[in-house]
Amino acid sequence: MKADALGRKFNTLRLSLTNVCNLACLYCVHESDANSQAYLPTANEDISEGKKVLSVDEFISIIKSILRHTSLETVRLTGGEPTLFKDLVPLVKALKDLGIPRVVLTTNGFLLKRKAQSLSEAGLDGINFSLDAIDKAIFFKMSRRDKLEATLDGIDAALENGINVKINSVIMKGVNDNQILPLLDYAISKNVAIRFLELMKMGHLYQGHNDFFFSEQDILWTIATKFHFQKKRRVSSSTANYWETQEGYKFGIIANESSPFCSDCNRLRLDSFGNIYGCLSNNNGISIIDCLDDDSALENRLQQALKQKQQVKFTGSELSMKAIGG
Ligand code: SAM
Repeated sequence: MKADALGRKFNTLRLSLTNVCNLACLYCVHESDANSQAYLPTANEDISEGKKVLSVDEFISIIKSILRHTSLETVRLTGGEPTLFKDLVPLVKALKDLGIPRVVLTTNGFLLKRKAQSLSEAGLDGINFSLDAIDKAIFFKMSRRDKLEATLDGIDAALENGINVKINSVIMKGVNDNQILPLLDYAISKNVAIRFLELMKMGHLYQGHNDFFFSEQDILWTIATKFHFQKKRRVSSSTANYWETQEGYKFGIIANESSPFCSDCNRLRLDSFGNIYGCLSNNNGISIIDCLDDDSALENRLQQALKQKQQVKFTGSELSMKAIGG
């Protein structure tokens, strides 16, 4: 496919396998929906808006069509909660059989203990665990579920199975900003990379975002109370900036507001109903289900998605990350 004026095209795909989740995190879910029952969607079962969830074969045929237009270095499986997708292991295997160099997962991790070995055997290349607190009460406050221990067990299971692990922690002012140092200590103790995320203006917090916003600078000030560190050079198209402490520990910050990274963003998103999105700031999904065999129509829609990308900065969206895939 043709690159845009900033030289951007797609070479990373984020695939949302389901919009259902088994946590109800403060930043994704409004209080009024926090107790709705999570359930296991099966392929093609009607869920929420009466739309069809795609099966493994359907995801694979969409990806094969996309591969005729652009090569994909990385496919990241996300959601909702991707471990709720019942055919996750066969999907990982099918993606590796297609020759995708990096197939990785973003998960809250609390079902990982029983899936880590089969995911590793299927060829999964890495897992980003979302872990917003290491204190049980604050974990509950952030996720509205009592699942800290299961999540930590999931991280251990991934490590025991030789899977490359990273931790992502969204920081909300007044809720879990006192967890930055304990989370960093935990990551150091496990010898895994950690990235702190600035809260993004999305979903039900699109308006109230400022009340909870804890900036990159605030995060650095917090870490500076315990560590001396230096900034490292940013790798092109990376979402995170990285620092290294005097002791040699690295940490990252994904700062959508303070250090936007739109100008070399190479990500394409596909939701669980077959709609593509070029940018998290744009909640108009473009369906590609009807044009998988029509190369010129598909190229057109990929170009439409590429045009959704912001020039400079993420502008926010009323769509929750849970729907579009984080
Ligand atoms: N359920 C999986 C998980 O918890 O990792 C995957 C989906 S979740 C939507 C993916 C990522 O999006 C998580 O790391 C989550 O913390 C992040 N996220 C969701 N909403 C966000 C927001 N408003 N600002 C920053 N990060 C957000």
